[in-house]
This record gives sequence, structure tokens and C-alpha cells, in this order.
Amino acid sequence: MKTIKELINESLTEVAASKDILRDENIRRVYKECPDLKEIDDQILNVRNSRFIAVIDKDERLIKRFDIAEEELQTKREKIMKINKIDPDFDSEKIICDKCNDTGFAKGSDGTVKVCSCRKKELEMCYEYSGMADYTSYKMKNYRDDYLGDPSGRKKIKNELLKALLGLSDNNDKSSLWVYSAPPQTGKTFLSVCVCKTAINLGRSAYYAKCEDLQTVGTDTLEDLKRIDFLVLDDFADSVTLFNNVGSVLNSILEVRAASKLPTVLVSPFPKSELVNKCDMRISGKLASANLISKESR
Ligand SMILES: [Zn+2]
Repeated sequence: MKTIKELINESLTEVAASKDILRDENIRRVYKECPDLKEIDDQILNVRNSRFIAVIDKDERLIKRFDIAEEELQTKREKIMKINKIDPDFDSEKIICDKCNDTGFAKGSDGTVKVCSCRKKELEMCYEYSGMADYTSYKMKNYRDDYLGDPSGRKKIKNELLKALLGLSDNNDKSSLWVYSAPPQTGKTFLSVCVCKTAINLGRSAYYAKCEDLQTVGTDTLEDLKRIDFLVLDDFADSVTLFNNVGSVLNSILEVRAASKLPTVLVSPFPKSELVNKCDMRISGKLASANLISKESR
């Protein structure tokens, strides 16, 4: 899997190339409009090359002559530029996106540094690499706190998930494992995907997967899941952990992540107490000390 930082880094080569092309095109256009300028610039180049040879020959008299020649040419050049109203920076590279200065990250109006709007393509690609290819339409701005008529409860859950992602907690020795428990049909998947996308938007590495898919995930992805900044595992249920090796895969993921204090969210339609009682024993031990995100949680 590729992280958003890696994707943006790759795109920077592309940006550099297009800046170079734009610069060349600009120079060609200006020279076409003003052949006198091209003439002078060619002469300056010649003088500089000749001066270079004079330097090697240590011919002080000649060096001085070329210096004076260049000075005269520069004065002429300035005049031509002024008369023809040519931008003095016409031959330098221009920034393509002034929002992010072509770095791919920019400070938003809310003060947080996010992926710049000029990197939408990379962002969508990253969502796809991060398990969210099936959820292209899920966007945080479409998450309505008042959906199902429970604005404060839904807002609270959203904020708790964002806090988990940012590693903000009121208690220092809190577990880095979170259980987000809410009844079916309450928009858990929508919110989980949106929070995962938010993580990527903030430049973090993140992944969204259904718990049962852990049985088919490749070794490379599995290693990634152990080390990425934020992991959300949806449709978590005690039964899932008891079949097809999911319990053991999940256990190894959780162990590595807990050691590095990397936040992991298990999303489940079942109450935490029930999960603790019925899960694969190794998982159940970890669940017992996990943080709870639910409407009732405090
Ligand atoms: Zn930008």
C-alpha cells in the first residue's frame, strides 16, 4: 500500500517536470515576441563563455574586457525589457499552486495542515489503496449529526473517533485500542470510512477493512496494517474471531500496534461486554481494557 506522503512525493517529480516545461514555453514565447532580447541574451551567453576561457588562461586584461562587455549588454537588456514591458522573472520557474507552494500540503482555514486541493487525484488514489475503493462517495461533509434525530449522540461519537485518530485522550495510560459499538443501521460504516479518510487527509497512513477480510489479506498488507498510523476494522463480532484464522491474525496486528501505541478502532454492532465474553480469548483480554465509543459511553 502507498501512503499519501509517498504518493505526493512521487507527484513532485511530475510537478518539477511541468514547471520546467512551462518555463521553457514562456522563454520561447517572450523571445518570439521580442527577438532583440534573444539577440542580447545570446550575446551575454557568448561573453560569459569567452570569459570562462580567459579565466582558465588567467588573462586578467581579457577578463576585465568581458566584464565590461557584459555590463554594457545587461544595461541594454534592461532597457529592452522596460520598453517591451517584459516580466523580469520570465525565465525563472513559477510556482504552479500558490496554496501549497507545490509541496502538496497546505494550511486550511481552520489552521490544520491538510493535503492541498491540487492533490485531489493522489488523495482519491490513496483512499483506494487504503481499503476504501468501494466508498468513493463517503465524505465527512455529508455526515449529518442530526440524522436519526440524535444530534448530540452522533456528534459525540464523531468527536471521540477523531480524538482516537489524533491520539488525544484524557488519560495518559489509556489503551490505544478503541471499540466503537452502536446498533445496526446507525451509520457506523459511513462514519468509520470518513474518519479514516480524514486521517489520510491529514497526511497520516490509514486503512479501513472489514474484520472478516483479514483472512484473505496479503502478507505485505498485513505488515502495513501493523505499522500504519491509524487502523479501522469494521463489522467486528465475536463469531468472526473464532473462524478462519481471523482471531490469530487480528491478535498479531493488535499486539504490534499496542506496543507502538498506534490507535486501532474495532467497529461492532454488539455491546463491548458481550464481545469481551464471547471473543477468541487472546482478543477478549485486549478488549477488556479497550476504550469504548458509544452513545452511552463516558
Ligand atoms: Zn496545492
